[in-house]
Amino acid sequence: MSVVYLNGEFMPAEKATVSVFDRGFLLGDGVYEVIPAFSGCLFRLTEHLERLQNSLDAIRLENPFSSDQWEDMLKQLIAENMSPELSIYLQVTRGVAVRDHAFPADAKPSIFAMANPIQKLAESYFKNGVGAITAVDNRWQRCNIKAISLLPNVLLRQQAVEQGVAEAILIRDGNVTEGSASNVFVVFNGKILTPPKGQYILPGITRDLVLELANVNNMECGEETITQDMLFSADEVWLTSSTKEVLSVTKIDDKPVGQGKPGPVWQRMVDIYREYKNSLLEQPRC
Ligand code: PMP
Repeated sequence: MSVVYLNGEFMPAEKATVSVFDRGFLLGDGVYEVIPAFSGCLFRLTEHLERLQNSLDAIRLENPFSSDQWEDMLKQLIAENMSPELSIYLQVTRGVAVRDHAFPADAKPSIFAMANPIQKLAESYFKNGVGAITAVDNRWQRCNIKAISLLPNVLLRQQAVEQGVAEAILIRDGNVTEGSASNVFVVFNGKILTPPKGQYILPGITRDLVLELANVNNMECGEETITQDMLFSADEVWLTSSTKEVLSVTKIDDKPVGQGKPGPVWQRMVDIYREYKNSLLEQPRC
């Protein structure tokens, strides 16, 4: 049984309970992060903690921990749940209070974290890529906050699942925003493009890393508006996220993307990504 962290204590998962008056439970009033840990090393921790701070600032909730406190707690959580590849989930809610939409005067934030092994993707994902559908992006206007209130994302992902594909690629006013739980890239004539950051997309840590690795490796890339038409005429389409890394989309709304199989630019990026990951693991202190 896994060990989780809840409000200052490590405990077996089945022992971890929160009040029904927690504002996370009643109102979805909280934010979260998902941080991968490879061989015990937290991947891009600084960037994840920066995004957490931005989410907390956006919902006007004070960060209950310093960066060092987060790191110490997460490292202990990893030690309690050792596995080669872990997905660390943490969330901070506005705490327990009498139910009222307005902020409570004196609630203490609730802090929860768990570590689950990352399921290895089947080889077929790499050989064949995945399918996606397009769907109207009917979420709110502050998608850059990593908020725990994910009902629209849940419903959009379910649409994809019921159509037998991996992800819903979201379209707002004719333009691609992101996936229900991923960022989107397209490739045209070797050039890698992703939508610019803003209020309609989550600033993905993997998205930024892919752009960074493309730049370092002299692969042409840019942040540009991607129209729905561009999505359907791209040579390659990718999805990125911390736990799925870089996935190739080979079918959208039942139409093949490019040649209908993972493309060469994706293959190069996956190789570069793996190399980067391995180089971090070789460092003495991670
Ligand atoms: N967009 C959304 C809506 C997401 O939920 C996620 C993953 N949590 C991402 C993008 C990708 O972000 P990251 O690369 O930081 O995992």
